[in-house]
Amino acid sequence: MTNTVLFWHRRDLRIVDNVGLDAAVQTGAMVLGVFCLDPTYLDPQKIAPAQVDYVLKSLQLLQQDYAAAGGQLLVIRQPTIAGIRDLMTGLAATALYCNESVEPYFRQQDQQIEVLLKERGIDFKRFWDHLLQPPETIYSGSNQPYTVYTPYWRNWQSRSKAAPLEVVKFLKLSAMAQTAIDQLTTPLPTLAELGFTWEPPQILAAGTAAAQQRLELFTATAINSYDVDRNFPAIDGTSTLSPALAWGTIGIRTVWQATSRAMYRASSDEARQGIITWQQEIAWREFYHQALYHFPQLLSGPYRPLWNDFPWSDDQARFAAWCQGQTGYPIVDAAMRQLNQTGWMHNRCRMIVASFLTKDLMINWQWGEQYFMQTLVDGEPAANNGGWQWSASSGMDPKPLRIFNPSTQAQKFDAQGDYIRQWLPELRSIDTKDLIIGKIPSLWRAGYPEPIVDHNIQQREFKRLYQLLKT
Ligand code: FAD
Repeated sequence: MTNTVLFWHRRDLRIVDNVGLDAAVQTGAMVLGVFCLDPTYLDPQKIAPAQVDYVLKSLQLLQQDYAAAGGQLLVIRQPTIAGIRDLMTGLAATALYCNESVEPYFRQQDQQIEVLLKERGIDFKRFWDHLLQPPETIYSGSNQPYTVYTPYWRNWQSRSKAAPLEVVKFLKLSAMAQTAIDQLTTPLPTLAELGFTWEPPQILAAGTAAAQQRLELFTATAINSYDVDRNFPAIDGTSTLSPALAWGTIGIRTVWQATSRAMYRASSDEARQGIITWQQEIAWREFYHQALYHFPQLLSGPYRPLWNDFPWSDDQARFAAWCQGQTGYPIVDAAMRQLNQTGWMHNRCRMIVASFLTKDLMINWQWGEQYFMQTLVDGEPAANNGGWQWSASSGMDPKPLRIFNPSTQAQKFDAQGDYIRQWLPELRSIDTKDLIIGKIPSLWRAGYPEPIVDHNIQQREFKRLYQLLKT
């Protein structure tokens, strides 16, 4: 009789270019896919409605992809460990396969599952799939994990990259397994049934086909001017593939291959530079993943312990103004409204709002980190924590103090005010010069707030507190 193997999907919602799934199918067993909608994660304090919407829709498409390849994907709504255990027992499965995670919570859970399955003589096999360079394979010259990006990039980019894997084909399940599965199968819940609401269109449609199309379009066009365009939030100059990379609706090897093909086609230095700069962003993603893998404590506090003693403000009213896009700083407010209304924010603006929260409002970066997780469609711990610690100067970035001036940022990167006008309709008729620096005449404010703090005063105060901290 053919064995049954369970493949557990996590941040890898696809059947093509999936290392762990490919290995499971290669065993010649009947492979059943499973995804756990664990109520522990489905907590509005931890996950954004836009993200739950993206995941549910991607699961629906993944079920269709499974069916088209002769397989089946079960989605269960139970706490993960109990759900996996019951399923393994119910199906008399002989092995559990999945892809590795860098997230401390999952790694701990994996250890528990390993013990549980070992007691029953069941194999638990994990594979590196989410990254081109697994964290255990890339160390500095002194054999330490990297804590600085530039040498990491040099090493990372010099290594050969694996090619994408083909889409898998499943063996037909036995009548007995099918009967057991039919008893366990329930329809996918709706977003409302999970306690979330999300109406707006997504920045990227769910599923592998949409991600693949976006990748192809981006690497055929905008990647060539990415080096410059990526800085301007009013331009569609970035890939917007982040939800797909966070949830693995596209494989990272497929993404890399598309950049190599773009490089082969590139006919100007500008295009080649655009492609390299984008590849560097893919490496930033991997840098933050390896950082979290080696330093799981990053999720609980600053990388630099000095920052534990910074006298962060707990001004709830200012934090609420920041969250709602009501700080009186147009570029900050435009960005926060983009986030609240679409579940996504441009990278330049993520840096601006994070600097404003931490350096101007002097509110702990962890508040911002959590708010991003509650609102971003692409929110994921490694990149989010990395971005916040970078902005707060508490992380691995060797530059001790980086403070963004919101007006200067707007002057440089939204010089015509197009982005600000898009997200702050009440300020549409303000003169561009005044709009950008936030000098809005009282008569024209239309309910738009006065600046809640003075950037220059706050900057001086922040520097003073930082000096005290260092002494
Ligand atoms: P592109 O510019 O097209 O880049 C391609 C891919 O590279 C992205 O999809 C992403 O996977 C990766 N990438 C790009 N920039 C970075 C970066 N600085 N760090 C890590 N990976 C990067 N990214 C997330 O995916 N999830 C997060 O939760 C997240 N939180 C952030 C919080 C802060 C405070 C900051 C400053 C940045 C954060 N980023 C996060 C990184 C970055 O802003 C987004 O990845 C990017 O804006 C997504 O848009 P894109 O897909 O068009 O990116």
